[in-house]
Amino acid sequence: MTAIRISGKDIAADVRAKVAAEVAKLPVKPCLAVILVGEDPASEVYVRGKLKDTEEAGMVSVHHRLPATATQEEVETLIASLNADDAVDGILLQLPLSKGLDADAAIERIDPSKDVDGLTEVSAGRLSLGKPGLRSCTPSGCVIMAKRALGDDLSGKHVVVIGRSILVGKPAALLFLAENCTVTIAHSRTKDLPAVCREADILVPAVGRPQMVKGDWLKPGAMVIDVGINRIDAPEKGEGKTRLVGDADYDSCAEVAGYITPVPGGVGLMTRACLLVNTLYAACARRGWQTPEIG
Ligand code: NAP
Repeated sequence: MTAIRISGKDIAADVRAKVAAEVAKLPVKPCLAVILVGEDPASEVYVRGKLKDTEEAGMVSVHHRLPATATQEEVETLIASLNADDAVDGILLQLPLSKGLDADAAIERIDPSKDVDGLTEVSAGRLSLGKPGLRSCTPSGCVIMAKRALGDDLSGKHVVVIGRSILVGKPAALLFLAENCTVTIAHSRTKDLPAVCREADILVPAVGRPQMVKGDWLKPGAMVIDVGINRIDAPEKGEGKTRLVGDADYDSCAEVAGYITPVPGGVGLMTRACLLVNTLYAACARRGWQTPEIG
């Protein structure tokens, strides 16, 4: 079997277009505020991309930069001022923060109604309780990709999520559970991980180990939604060159899987698109507008 490649590029473009169409109907443009602390080059690239996406979707973006020397109090004071600013619908604190800052404490300062990353305890609690709220972007992107490949009704599918992080693994498991899937969460202490993975109709590796999942870990026809983003050496591209790979070994998995998402060009693009969805949802909920459903 050769798996169907599920392109994050195409699906993310479609999601962005749907967001833009909904934004165009609104009386006021939703506004996303992004906070970047320090000068981490990778974070700079991510923030630039997020700001560009926001503006292309017809929304307003505001970029707040703090120096690497910023104190916890300065970060939290900025968050408090954005919470109080009625024009701001979403607040994104770009992680990681500079050394010495407490990211968890800072995130907790974000007004949950503006928590477009879905990382506050209130957002996590609402997800866990099955109540409406803002959901983390990467797991939301995984569910959208699964539905695009397999259809909107995922009920009864066995989903194996590898990883139990607060950012990805746990919320992914809960979101698939909310879709009536049967969910297994595997992690570093799981026994016989390949056998557990072979039970999956949908396998979601979110580990951070390059090409760990091999083709013979899969049930034939399964879907692999590869969350991992790992940089490895690529001597074939020249001395000192590197390339990005996922947690799944794409070539061997593509021989067995029915569907597979690539890295790069997969879940990462969906994460960015889902940030726009969350900004739109936050604006609609805060301002009392009817919230559209974007999937
Ligand atoms: P993390 O916080 O380091 O969590 C990794 C998880 O993998 C942990 O739960 C860990 O288990 C588990 N794990 C580690 N080694 C394992 C092994 N040998 N077998 C089974 N499980 C193992 O990482 P994260 O933040 O969730 O990110 C995971 C990956 O996703 C990274 O590559 C990251 O770059 C990527 N990511 C991508 C996006 C995107 O937009 N595509 C967004 C976020 C993250 P224990 O809990 O037992 O230690």
